[in-house]
Amino acid sequence: MSQRVQIPVYLDFNATTPVDIRVFDAMQPYFVELFGNAASSSHGFGIQAREAVDTARQQVARLIGTTPSEIVWTSGSTESINLAVKGAADAHQAKGRHIITQATEHKAVLDCCKILSNQGFDVTFLPTDGEGLVSADDVVGAIRPDTILCSIMWANNEIGTVQPIREIALACRARGVLFHTDATQAAGKLPVNVVEDSIDLLSLSGHKMYGPKGTGILYVRKGTKLTCQLDGGGHEGGFRSGTLNVPGIIGVGAACDLSRRLMATESPRLAALRDKLEQELVLGLGEVTVNGSRENRLPHVTNLSFAGVNGLELLPSITDEVAVSSGSACTSASMEASYVLKALGRSEELAYASIRFSLGRKTTEAEIDFVIEKITGVIQMLRARHGAALAQAT
Ligand code: PLP
Repeated sequence: MSQRVQIPVYLDFNATTPVDIRVFDAMQPYFVELFGNAASSSHGFGIQAREAVDTARQQVARLIGTTPSEIVWTSGSTESINLAVKGAADAHQAKGRHIITQATEHKAVLDCCKILSNQGFDVTFLPTDGEGLVSADDVVGAIRPDTILCSIMWANNEIGTVQPIREIALACRARGVLFHTDATQAAGKLPVNVVEDSIDLLSLSGHKMYGPKGTGILYVRKGTKLTCQLDGGGHEGGFRSGTLNVPGIIGVGAACDLSRRLMATESPRLAALRDKLEQELVLGLGEVTVNGSRENRLPHVTNLSFAGVNGLELLPSITDEVAVSSGSACTSASMEASYVLKALGRSEELAYASIRFSLGRKTTEAEIDFVIEKITGVIQMLRARHGAALAQAT
């Protein structure tokens, strides 16, 4: 079986995806031949680039159900989130200085909120339930007369839990609170329609959906006021200055177009492979916890905690053959357990002993079979070693 599998097997598509060859082909002419400045040149080179950027804008708009004029090009979700959160806070502070978010957001949102709280904004960090979910009622309970913004991610990068975005967004709209969602992991994987879902601001990133790194967009609903975070030539309707990254933009557009067309077949295929992986590890090994919601989650993600192993030994025993990650972060002096898993109520020990598997467009059944065999062997070996170490210590 292993002959058909190229090692290491990559199951870390939530960290980043390869550029799809169709996306790469679409981008290629815009590096050397069609290199014009899309925003500022009135000659043929500029016009050609501008027309291509317009097409890309339409492709992105179509994926998320909006109009091209509401798409702002950025360098990725981190920048989009900074523009949305800091830009909205600054532009609306005359109305109030209260912001709502939740505990398992990506650091891009959490850190923006922390900076804003250092500047005198009051931020409510809602806790989640044991599956990583917040509800519209939780959000409504936190809204105050001075609340200006609520930022809740669509889908979590570590555990894949999908929030009830439409209900939360509707509750915010009804109370005059701007709603931003970090859709970095959801866009291209789940149906998104910013109009039907009542969303004011939405961030997405090219490199999570088979587009190039360093590319992204912020959807800004028509009429939404934001203070720009990059001053300069007033590009992108004044929301984001800087010469447009034309090849990157063509790449995001092509990636959005592909994802929109492939989603209906890709998502169920990956869900079936993910379920096989999860079921065989859970049933085969025992004492395995599935982290996050099993009902409301991304189709290609499972996050598992393995009891009875020393978590520090887990990833080093696997990553030569299976490229996966855990939410634990290495700081200079030590390992820090995943704040997302801790927010769900996992112990530090179990949080260390956790792996996120995220499948992608190229994942095959043979790879999943290989990974099941490999992980089973490693966990059995680590459990035996951990048991022996405990026995020796007593
Ligand atoms: N938000 C989420 C949920 C993410 O997973 C990531 C990247 O891991 C980001 C934001 C940041 O995206 P980017 O790498 O495009 O800046």
